[in-house]
Amino acid sequence: MIRLRSSLSLGFQLPSLHLIFLGYLLLANLVASRREDERTYQKRDYHTLSNADIRKLVESDPPQWDSVTDGHLGKLLIPRASGSENNTLVQNYISSVFINLGWHEEKTPFRGSTPIGDIDFTNLIYTYDPDAARRIILAAHFDSKWFPDFPANQFIGATDSAAPVAMLLHLAEFLTPLLKNRKERIRTGHGLLRDEFDEEEIAGTTIQIVLFDGEEAFKDWTATDSIYGARHLAELWSETYLEPSHPLQLQKRRFAPEPTVLDTVDHLVLLDLLGNKHSMIYSYFRETDWLHTEMASVDGRLRRESLVEVEDGENEWFSTMRLRGGIGDDHLPFLHRGVSILHVISNPFPSVWHTLGDDATVLSLPALRRWDRILRIFTCEYLGLAPDPTSTTTTTFTHKSNPKKSIDELTITNTEL
Ligand SMILES: [Zn+2]
Repeated sequence: MIRLRSSLSLGFQLPSLHLIFLGYLLLANLVASRREDERTYQKRDYHTLSNADIRKLVESDPPQWDSVTDGHLGKLLIPRASGSENNTLVQNYISSVFINLGWHEEKTPFRGSTPIGDIDFTNLIYTYDPDAARRIILAAHFDSKWFPDFPANQFIGATDSAAPVAMLLHLAEFLTPLLKNRKERIRTGHGLLRDEFDEEEIAGTTIQIVLFDGEEAFKDWTATDSIYGARHLAELWSETYLEPSHPLQLQKRRFAPEPTVLDTVDHLVLLDLLGNKHSMIYSYFRETDWLHTEMASVDGRLRRESLVEVEDGENEWFSTMRLRGGIGDDHLPFLHRGVSILHVISNPFPSVWHTLGDDATVLSLPALRRWDRILRIFTCEYLGLAPDPTSTTTTTFTHKSNPKKSIDELTITNTEL
């Protein structure tokens, strides 16, 4: 990815103490009005889990590995530039994980013209329930950056983006039994209906994991030398019209444009440059400020409940400061076609970015586990998934269609002032 313009300047002088206090009061008001503002953009329900349920979910899946190279990451940490044999090996590995889990697989192979000649690319798309009307997409790119010469061509891109891909594989493994149990409850007519919570209705939104090929530029990042897979997929979906029997076709207004596959995407959450000790995540889009706040809230609750290990100096990973302008990455062709984006990317980039230093040594086990848990709980809350209700304690959701949160629940780390 590439840095684009940012609309904020971070330069400031140290203010006196009373100015800090005044600034805090002002900021508290700003945060309050920001929450009001966010609510107007929140177009769907969000189901906040109780701390007891979060604990149950986290403890149902204890850490299974002792080293960053255990598990899926060990299979992904190889040079895997688009069009290479290693890239195909990684594709096959990812495919085997999802096929084993029983997810629907779709591949979109295509040949693209690049500054070093024609290259074969393949996007990998996995859907838990391909018949669902709507979906949230979680995405990352699985290619690594191509370099022509040794030793630069040994680049493995641990944070860019092997670790985010591994997080999505872990997420799929974690969610599958919960999704299966819910499907079974609905199939047998036991879909839970409690506090106006209808599992059948909420299961109309499924999860899709998209792994892009060809994110990296072969030479210098330009509009035509970058995000090959994402550009191909966004265009393909914008031209793929829904079947007449699709629920969105039935809902559509007369004379509205024909709905395409893109219209079934509620949100695209793109992960990039994660897995090292430090992360700082900003919100870049007004439409999804609220979703960024929800993800920050998940992290905050996990920290307060001591369900994640917080390394020295790594207390807050989510800034309340809103950055506009964004960073060039796989979301752009979707953003330009009207898809709501949450871009979860470290800013500033890890210092090892696009160097041989971006290898296993830069990854942090506590950070990887923390990300895994944030993504698991966030996705459960988004999809209305809870621990198995047949277990002893009852499930409590707080519905967030009209969220009410006090200011002091928000951790204030920064300001637009
Ligand atoms: Zn990169």
